[in-house]
Amino acid sequence: MQEMSKPSKGAVFFSDTTLRDGEQMAGASMSVDQKVEIAKALKDIGIHSADLGFPAAGQNEIKAIQRIVKEAPLPLMVALCRTRREDIDLAAEAFADAHPLRCSAAIFLGTSPIHREAKLGMSRSQILDEIRRAITYARNHFKFVSFSPEDASRTEPDFLREVYGEAIDAGARTVAYTDTLGILTPEKTRTAVRHILDHVANIDRAYFAVHLHNDLGLATANTLAAIDEGVQIVQCTINGIGERAGNTSLEEVVTAMLLNRDQYPQKISIKPHLLTAISRLVERHSAIALAVNKPVVGRNIFTTEAGIHQDGILKDPQTYLPFDPDLVGGPPLTLTLGKHSGRAAFRKCLETMGLELSEPQLVQVVAVAKEADKEDWASPERLLSTIVAQLFGADSVGAVESTSAKSEVSFTKPNA
Ligand code: MN
Repeated sequence: MQEMSKPSKGAVFFSDTTLRDGEQMAGASMSVDQKVEIAKALKDIGIHSADLGFPAAGQNEIKAIQRIVKEAPLPLMVALCRTRREDIDLAAEAFADAHPLRCSAAIFLGTSPIHREAKLGMSRSQILDEIRRAITYARNHFKFVSFSPEDASRTEPDFLREVYGEAIDAGARTVAYTDTLGILTPEKTRTAVRHILDHVANIDRAYFAVHLHNDLGLATANTLAAIDEGVQIVQCTINGIGERAGNTSLEEVVTAMLLNRDQYPQKISIKPHLLTAISRLVERHSAIALAVNKPVVGRNIFTTEAGIHQDGILKDPQTYLPFDPDLVGGPPLTLTLGKHSGRAAFRKCLETMGLELSEPQLVQVVAVAKEADKEDWASPERLLSTIVAQLFGADSVGAVESTSAKSEVSFTKPNA
């Protein structure tokens, strides 16, 4: 195997942390088997590297890493370590059977004033010494070592420059800019990334990554801003799961890049048509339910109930479709029939049921249906056939002749 070359400005690499930061989310614990299954799916979608766990957290983390090394080896597999020797030793143990060019230790240490003073009780120079010592030690076990200053977004810019310079000088192959608390805006992300690229003298000797959290719902926007400034590696999770409000969501960044190639022409290796399937897998194994309106992969993304939208979609789906569901392997476009629907959608639904009504009959059916209770809408077809039978006689349901072909859109109950 060739040693990986440094990514050019023409490519963005995705480093997934669903199995580590994602699993750290309250309530998201996964079994070893579930982690192996997700690792296989990550490999299938074209993930470049994956953070597989924090070996110091226990034997199950190590077991999961060992099984993934054997059963689903990704191009680059990463284990998280504090600066302690024992953490690095455990990571080396977890990767004992991995190819040396396929595994890496990811070391982190808090660098912001609050982390230095309240958590670590270390001075700036002690922090720099600790970083150098840990990276030097890790380099004895690993060909690839990365370093992340934790809470970088609240670290003084002058000290952050020293931190990156020291880490790269000590042999870190990747350095990451972190927004551990998810407090940045796109403008501030852009400024911070630019500052590092312009003022850290040896930054060209390392890959530059971002690791951003979503506490303000800005992780995707911040990540895109960082990519635009020249960041080469995006750390992210499937469904955006992770601590608190979660991490940057892989499916959102990938889809945003693909729909805006004029702004983001960089090469990416992700197969977007597998995104919905891996989203459902991670939802199931993490037991973190997706919001129905979750961008890109939520169950309502290709569903609409509003009359004006449905009328437009029935004329041409492009009128109200942000992108083709096939792009992300999503479910087909669905018109939910409900009280917000208009006559066009009612007519289409009745046609798919084999019921062709005259315009005055349709008006009557719609008027009655709009007064129906929410429970009656559980099956729009049953509701409509009941109303038709009540209005026009029990025989009419079977007797009305259908001339329509099968519809290209399907109707469903809300949140099916
Ligand atoms: Mn994190």
